Amino acid sequence: MDNERCDFCHEGRLKAQTVREYYKYHGDLVIIDNVPAYVCNTCGEHYHFAQVAKKLRRIAENRSKIKERISVPITTFESQFSIPFEDAI
Ligand SMILES: [Zn+2]
Repeated sequence: MDNERCDFCHEGRLKAQTVREYYKYHGDLVIIDNVPAYVCNTCGEHYHFAQVAKKLRRIAENRSKIKERISVPITTFESQFSIPFEDAI
């Protein structure tokens, strides 16, 4: 897949590298580092081989066994700027 054209943006080229994946699963978020992927040099889309995608899903299914945790701030756009939705777009 190296140097193939991106199916998403049809402009960029793919390069093999490792990435951080933000994997959403049943309302939870699991961050998985060092995931093998092909990444578009234009739009940044990640592509995974099927066997990698299956392993990501398995990691997410077993997320309760992962010991490391982080806490992140969460807010809403509106509460930060007091701009009604209609005026923000
Ligand atoms: Zn692309």
